[in-house]
Amino acid sequence: MKYIALIAHDGKKAELVEFVLRFKKFFSKVPTIATHTTGSRLKAEGFNVETVASGPKGGDAQIASRITEGQVGGVIFFRDPMGKHPHEPDINMLLRLCDVYNIPLATNPATAELIARNIT
Ligand code: PGA
Repeated sequence: MKYIALIAHDGKKAELVEFVLRFKKFFSKVPTIATHTTGSRLKAEGFNVETVASGPKGGDAQIASRITEGQVGGVIFFRDPMGKHPHEPDINMLLRLCDVYNIPLATNPATAELIARNIT
């Protein structure tokens, strides 16, 4: 079964945790992978998730690499549209690879809900 990748910028982490808890049933059935700080926040809520490096330290690139290896079935990436990020090139690479490999990508809760309701 393919991973659902979970990433949130600092201003959106609370929203992502809330989203995952809201769709707990779905997320308990799929393997998940998250960037480090996002994953730590989820683990603090008792959620089981594999973590990679923090986004600014290459975590987005690691998840992008999993996409190229065919291991990812969807990406939920709550970006903060009001923030500037030192790892913008990595973020753009991840988003680009979602399009290259035709991977469902949600950057806000409304779209993430479509993924959570449709991927089994
Ligand atoms: P983080 O990384 O979960 O380690 O904060 C996310 C990001 O900033 O891309």
